[in-house]
Amino acid sequence: MEQGIDFDIVVIGGGIVGLASAYKTALAHPHIRIVVLEKEEQLATHQTGHNSGVIHSGLYYKPGSTKAETCAKGRKELVDFAKKNKIPCKITGKIIVATKKKELPNLEQIFNNGLESNIGGIEKIGPNEIKEIEPFCTGIAGIKVPCTGVIDFGKIAKKLGQLIEKKGKANKVLTSHEVIGFDKHDFYTNVVTNNGAFAAKYIINCAGLQCDRIARMDGLDPEMRIVPFRGDYHELTEEAAEKVKSLIYPVPDPTFPFLGVHFTRKIDGSVECGPNAVLSFKREGYGKTDFNFTDTWQSLSYWGTWKMFRRHWRYGLGEYTRAFCKKLFLQQLQRLIPSLGPDDIKPGGAGVRAQAIGPKGEPIDDFKIERSKNSIHVLNAPSPAATASLAIGDYINQIATEHFKLR
Ligand SMILES: Cc1cc2nc3c(=O)[nH]c(=O)nc-3n(C[C@H](O)[C@H](O)[C@H](O)COP(=O)(O)OP(=O)(O)OC[C@H]3O[C@@H](n4cnc5c(N)ncnc54)[C@H](O)[C@@H]3O)c2cc1C
Repeated sequence: MEQGIDFDIVVIGGGIVGLASAYKTALAHPHIRIVVLEKEEQLATHQTGHNSGVIHSGLYYKPGSTKAETCAKGRKELVDFAKKNKIPCKITGKIIVATKKKELPNLEQIFNNGLESNIGGIEKIGPNEIKEIEPFCTGIAGIKVPCTGVIDFGKIAKKLGQLIEKKGKANKVLTSHEVIGFDKHDFYTNVVTNNGAFAAKYIINCAGLQCDRIARMDGLDPEMRIVPFRGDYHELTEEAAEKVKSLIYPVPDPTFPFLGVHFTRKIDGSVECGPNAVLSFKREGYGKTDFNFTDTWQSLSYWGTWKMFRRHWRYGLGEYTRAFCKKLFLQQLQRLIPSLGPDDIKPGGAGVRAQAIGPKGEPIDDFKIERSKNSIHVLNAPSPAATASLAIGDYINQIATEHFKLR
């Protein structure tokens, strides 16, 4: 062991992206010492543990983009990983349903993306086939996507944590270790946490909702800011859940990075509907009125946020009213399942997305990774990053191998 160096690589963030990156790097370089530092008491406490649990097919994304490629590759690997490690996972298939004529061009575009990205088995369907697949759903046209599935990403993250420690005796996954500063030296950095400091040669920042702050702490000035968007879910009552067999999605608005309120029969059998997308006043706040001054100030003092508001205020206002008004939320669900009533839904959980916004107010669509001298910063890993995590892990390992000259 080199004198004074505790670890070769510090990975910041025990979400699925940090853990998959550490795991793939540990597999490729068994002799190096890796530590994952997670600030919470448990792994996967934030986005990874608060998502829809959907294994995405990859057909929404621009063909050839990192998102499209890692999603297709990561999905297959994730399913194999789940089987091998006995983590429940179901490939249930899903349908995307257009309910209005004006949605048809977007539906066509999604279908063509799917063909270009080689998403196996996708089919165009009409109103009768929609009813055959989901008897309570109504639509004018749709796409059947057989390779979509459901899983608990939190369980995958925890398994990855165990395997990282198993792959190398010197590897560690440490929870309750919040990175609060860097003390930089020529050939190493003292990574300072609330629970002691670790001298490391290299840093990989996978801090999700906090990734831009960690990057700035490291001296980087990334041309983006994380603006948090909360997504609220409702759950169908046991009786109403009979109305959903697997997954039903609307046609998303292509100007937004979110997929629209959908129905998901989850891996535990319950049916969730959501999430909406409203600006959150706290990066890690899951309640509708949660507020943090610094988080709010950093979102609202950024020009990009205001430029985004100016362009999308009507959509934003609609999402806000739906977040606070059950009747309006229900109306959105009734577009897909008209027979749902107010007694069929009850409040569910919430998640907060780390949405990277560029200086012109544009939501950054593809994954974004930047390098500085001894660091790699994952600055945008939105959905489908959980599906794609194992492929993202390979990608980060590839960047780390070249950038850090790992042997
Ligand atoms: C509502 C919602 C629904 C989604 N649905 C899906 C879906 O169905 N399918 C899909 O594939 N993807 C989905 N996604 C996207 C997916 O969940 C995320 O892209 C993915 O979980 C990102 O993982 P991550 O590791 O980058 O972030 P996170 O899971 O947020 O992990 C980052 C970790 O870094 C830690 N951290 C932050 N700062 C520090 C610090 N200073 N020191 C130490 N640790 C720190 C945090 O505590 C956290 O645990 C969804 C996301 C949301 C929010």
